[in-house]
Amino acid sequence: MLDQLSPPVRGLILDMDGVLWRDDTPIGDLHTIFARIQARGLQVALATNNATKTVDEYLVRLRGFGVELEPWQIITSSLATAHTLEKIFPQKGMVFVVGENGIVSDLREKGFTVITDPNDETPVVAVVAGIDRALSYHKLRRATLHIRAGAPFYGTNPDTTFPTPLGLVPGAGSILAALEAATDVKPIVIGKPSPFLFELAAERMGLTKDESLVVGDRLETDIAAAQMMGCRCALVLSGVSTHQQAEAWNPKPDLIAKDLSELAGI
Ligand SMILES: [Mg+2]
Repeated sequence: MLDQLSPPVRGLILDMDGVLWRDDTPIGDLHTIFARIQARGLQVALATNNATKTVDEYLVRLRGFGVELEPWQIITSSLATAHTLEKIFPQKGMVFVVGENGIVSDLREKGFTVITDPNDETPVVAVVAGIDRALSYHKLRRATLHIRAGAPFYGTNPDTTFPTPLGLVPGAGSILAALEAATDVKPIVIGKPSPFLFELAAERMGLTKDESLVVGDRLETDIAAAQMMGCRCALVLSGVSTHQQAEAWNPKPDLIAKDLSELAGI
């Protein structure tokens, strides 16, 4: 199917959930799929809104499915958030975080001093919020006071819920909504449908947007972000969005495939 693209692309930016796997179950033979993509001479980067897992955890998971990738090929919303803040605050500084280890360690790695203690009153250059399964009123209170004092407000990703075996539970977007209600400030959200993740993915592959193809399973996030960025995109029907929804989406994705195997030509 990739042969239908003219001019051809030189790299793929793949979403993970619904493209590579559903929960813990791989979608197709991932080892064969990645070997086929490599044989076509295409570069690959993976981009997810999930900010709870680290890059290493994804590498281990992929290795379990027979796929060996390098750390630079994995982009999470926490990584993209840290990357964006680094560009905006080259002088670094203190950041108050409502979030978990993923975002905390990515910001520290970029040289920011991260404050998570809600009793620490030190002024900050920014507030970053994401999923925090140890969320407390005091954390929301401190973040609110910082934002009301003028600190810019960033969110890792907009997903209001995420699926668990028990059903849908609150995601990062629900925590952002609480802070937005308390501050009357809308966060700058880094994850899809904002194009930051895909831009970073293309940059890391050394490709322009015209040379990249985004592959995702969700119209409102993956496809919307690709189209906002001006990048060609393929919808796979192995996840959330259906063929019918894709037909109604305007403009339509450049390609629609049953799954990544079909797209890769297996
Ligand atoms: Mg997905």
